[in-house]
Amino acid sequence: MPELPEVETIRRHLQRVVPGSGITQVAVGLPKIVKLPITLFRRRVVGTTIRRFRRRSKLLLVELSTGRRRAGGHGWTMIIHLKMSGQLIWRPRRGRMVAGGHPIPGGLDDLPNKYSHVIFVTNRGTLFFNDQRQFGFVKLVPTVDLEYWLEGQGYGPEPLSSDFTVALFERILRQHRQKRVKSALLDQHVVAGLGNIYADEACWYGRVRPTRRISSLRVAERRALYRGLRKSIAVGVRWQGTTLRFFRTPSGRTGRMALHLKVYGRSGLRCYRRDGIIRKITFQGRGTHFCTRCQR
Ligand SMILES: [Zn+2]
Repeated sequence: MPELPEVETIRRHLQRVVPGSGITQVAVGLPKIVKLPITLFRRRVVGTTIRRFRRRSKLLLVELSTGRRRAGGHGWTMIIHLKMSGQLIWRPRRGRMVAGGHPIPGGLDDLPNKYSHVIFVTNRGTLFFNDQRQFGFVKLVPTVDLEYWLEGQGYGPEPLSSDFTVALFERILRQHRQKRVKSALLDQHVVAGLGNIYADEACWYGRVRPTRRISSLRVAERRALYRGLRKSIAVGVRWQGTTLRFFRTPSGRTGRMALHLKVYGRSGLRCYRRDGIIRKITFQGRGTHFCTRCQR
């Protein structure tokens, strides 16, 4: 599943090329992906211009201009969640394609394909929302109500925001003392945007074993975990996530984060701190990786 760094990477790339494009047509192949009646969705979206791409947690927020049908005089924001296997692909009339999300099987010459469930045609190019497993969704929220709507989702702080201080992290952890470290990191109310990969990475950077109980962590360990989780996300964003592909040609190029993972997918290999071997266990139903020596 794309996590915060993957979604942020797609956001940055789409933000560079898509804003200013006017939506002229919308095709919905699979109605359940769109969380409102299709005719209404189409009426609200067609005729608007894509203004900008924002992100909160793993949600992509696509701000639209005011269209033909107004929401109290304001435009709508389209909320896109890629979930397990969603992809967004921008095919411009001119220039190179941008594609991100789940690794994309095969070439992109055959778009739309059978997984292209929502297609936005604009005056500058086409945006495809593909989803093989169909867990992803598209919603509309009036832009004026967006902050309120997001608050209602109860997301914890954005790990890279300046509001997310070590003091705030400590305060949040006190409410989750009974949880294990990894489950706390995966809990979107504790901190937004981490999934299985970055939770394991965060624990390695923080030198904390993911199976520890929060209540057992000493102050220094909680602080190290705080720094570790910020670091894992920052590294993920820097290397453009594990799954992104930009396409000059259909052979493409992948996000380089996979080369920078410290524990995830390294089971049986030597720890980069040259002390132990990375072990993989199943913890609360998820593959969990840690070094048996430096993570205590
Ligand atoms: Zn180690």
